[in-house]
Amino acid sequence: MLTAENTKKWMDSFYRKIEENKDYLSELDTPIGDGDHGNNMMRGMDGVKNSLAQLQDPDLKTVLKAIAMGLISKVGGASGPLYGTAFLEMAKKCSETQKVNELLSVALAGIKKRGGATEGDKTMVDVWSPVAQSNAITPKIIDDAIASTKDMQARKGRASYLGERSIGHLDPGAVSSGYLFTALLETEGT
Ligand code: ADP
Ligand code: MG
Ligand code: MG
Repeated sequence: MLTAENTKKWMDSFYRKIEENKDYLSELDTPIGDGDHGNNMMRGMDGVKNSLAQLQDPDLKTVLKAIAMGLISKVGGASGPLYGTAFLEMAKKCSETQKVNELLSVALAGIKKRGGATEGDKTMVDVWSPVAQSNAITPKIIDDAIASTKDMQARKGRASYLGERSIGHLDPGAVSSGYLFTALLETEGT
């Protein structure tokens, strides 16, 4: 169950993972993209931190919206509106349910609709989808989902320009999504 409090803790933990792995994420984005994914996500998470810091005693919906706006306004790359849409969809749904897997399902649907990608296209969808569909998120589900993107050929985003040459590399947005879900897993009470 998400609450305003544990969602803020989740974001603190995601922030630290992005900070620690910023260079790695940009390195992953170098052979199959434009080498900026780590920097994009770091800027986005600075945006999230600032928007959350402005709020006084917010409810869950306000927290989720502030996360979305921070990401959409600061990331710059393709990943920003996609992550942002995910949190906006969760914000819309959270008055009805606070269950993690139900919120992640609407988030996934939003990402797919916004970006037009489906499973197997070598994008963040390949991590969001198995995680959203699992009743209990585990490190193995996350790791296997990330690893599965290596042998895929990209059909969406910049990596798709490379055609078959995109095969053999992990998708950077899949790896950053893995940090998001590891952070969630490590946040007590979710
Ligand atoms: P940009 O490619 O604009 O530089 P980023 O490097 O920040 O943006 O993000 C790239 C990541 O965004 C990819 O690794 C992929 O996971 C994700 N992505 C790109 N396009 C799409 C899409 N249409 N649907 C889902 N995810 C996408
Ligand atoms: Mg990029
Ligand atoms: Mg870019």
